[in-house]
Amino acid sequence: MVTAYIALGSNLDDPAHRVDAARLAVGGIPQTRLVVVSSLYQTKPVDASGDDYINAVIKIETELGIYQLLKELQRLESLSGRALAQDRAHLHNAPRTLDLDILLYGAARIESSTLTVPHVRMWQRAFVLVPLSEIAPELVSAEQLAAVSGQLISRLS
Ligand code: ATP
Ligand code: CA
Ligand code: CA
Repeated sequence: MVTAYIALGSNLDDPAHRVDAARLAVGGIPQTRLVVVSSLYQTKPVDASGDDYINAVIKIETELGIYQLLKELQRLESLSGRALAQDRAHLHNAPRTLDLDILLYGAARIESSTLTVPHVRMWQRAFVLVPLSEIAPELVSAEQLAAVSGQLISRLS
């Protein structure tokens, strides 16, 4: 059993509802259990136009290998109607109905063509670090939070 942290984000078609539903849907992945969910947070898109994002972070326990977990998360993304990554490859940070990123998977350190864990940009993002520190304060230092304190983020629920 591995403990993992997943970042959830959406900025299209009732994003708060989508992120809320996704928190539960991830718990429905085979051999996977939802342990803790953060509040929902609202943030401005980074380097992109479009509506505000709703973000959250969840802690799970899973028996799945990391690539199986990625596949299941991508399946949930497509179920939410998100365009396939290859179809929107030209649109960096494009609006999307659901984005599910693996932040941490146990103590794994992976750098492959399809997976980088810990997530390579997590330490630069208030929308990841603030919800992560809510549910796992031991994983985020005061210095790391201070480094993203210039980014606007508000807690919804
Ligand atoms: P960012 O990585 O900056 O958050 P993004 O989430 O918008 O960008 P996507 O288009 O959702 O990027 O994903 C592109 C690819 O990133 C995925 O197909 C996946 O193979 C790869 N990827 C690499 N590391 C991870 C990770 N830790 N979690 C999820 N996907 C990852
Ligand atoms: Ca992402
Ligand atoms: Ca992603």
